[in-house]
Amino acid sequence: MNKIHRVPYPREVIAHPSPAPALAHFLEHCLATFATENSGAVADYIPELSKAKTGHFGIGLATIDGHVYEAGDSAVEFTIQTISKAFVFALALELVGHERVEAKIGVEPSGEAFNSIRLTADNRPFNAMVNAGAIACSGLIHSVEDSGAFECVLDALSRFAGRKLSVDEAVYESENATGDRNRAIGYMLRNYSVVQGNVDEVLDVYFRQCSILVTARDLAVMAGTLANSGVNPVTNVKVLTPRAVARTLSVMTSSDMYDYAGEWVYRVGIPAKSGVGGGIIAALPEQFGLGTFSTLLDSHCNSVRGLKVCQALSPHFHLHVLNRSIDVRTSIIADYDIKGISSRRIRQPHEQFILDDHSQDIRVIELVGALTFGNVDFVSRQFGAGCGRTCSSSTCAACPR
Ligand code: GLN
Repeated sequence: MNKIHRVPYPREVIAHPSPAPALAHFLEHCLATFATENSGAVADYIPELSKAKTGHFGIGLATIDGHVYEAGDSAVEFTIQTISKAFVFALALELVGHERVEAKIGVEPSGEAFNSIRLTADNRPFNAMVNAGAIACSGLIHSVEDSGAFECVLDALSRFAGRKLSVDEAVYESENATGDRNRAIGYMLRNYSVVQGNVDEVLDVYFRQCSILVTARDLAVMAGTLANSGVNPVTNVKVLTPRAVARTLSVMTSSDMYDYAGEWVYRVGIPAKSGVGGGIIAALPEQFGLGTFSTLLDSHCNSVRGLKVCQALSPHFHLHVLNRSIDVRTSIIADYDIKGISSRRIRQPHEQFILDDHSQDIRVIELVGALTFGNVDFVSRQFGAGCGRTCSSSTCAACPR
């Protein structure tokens, strides 16, 4: 099990007078701290991937207002691999429809490695984040787009990234030449009617989508699009509906890091996805998207340095999605009736008379912050609870008798 790394974050860094936000410092600090971490190995079951440089290390973080922090090799391209599965699942939900996707692919964590050939009891892939589920997604998109299926996938992932993406043909060729296990999965899925039609064409879509070139910055913007309810925070292009976002983040939460998913939710608690090309994405709803790149992988095929960045970032900034301590009572900043409240508006005498006469019946509740379920409920209960003033008036309409 990966030992949790608490970044020894020197006070002087936090107190550093430089204008750059604390977050930029923290990312640079993670880069410096974890660049010396050399455990793990590059993926080599796809021969072309074994040529990857181990020294590269990049971090990108895109906030939902469109600001992108970058540290290290954030502009170095590498293949997206399994991270593509999250976005292609989202695309399948939009393109083919939620019902058809759910009829073919489960949403349960498999607890197994990403290339497991095991299916659910009713012969469906456990979820869309493992190879079987991803091949089923490529199959569904192929069933509606046919020979245009891959262009459709590339176009969608480019909209998530906010730039035109391309394919690493050498990695594609290498994966295609050594993809027998995925072929076995593809034909097994056709045997159970999860995939229809030409399995090799479907696999070609899958091999090509895994070979799409991205950078840590691209991954941050792509994850930022998921965190921003489907709108690309940099280009403001609407890429996905909030419903498909929620379903994609749900499966990412339960099945993101393969057979390390439980540990990840427990220690980091941000929906994420990793790939054997060395990338990791994490998408914190309403906050930001993170992308990391380092090719050294641990025994679960997750990037060692990327994992450490996330394990340091989440506790440091209290980012765990279940670590919610919003106090709904703080949403009301003032609660009063208008008696004695002056206004700059010049009113007709009869208007002023009515206001004066009913000043205690008119209540103002000033709210602050986003209206969530919790504080709308809290505020609505305050309506019934009388005005916030210590009200001595016998005629105050808001105060219960
Ligand atoms: N293309 C790779 C495969 O199918 C993706 C695996 C991964 O990133 N975990 O095996």
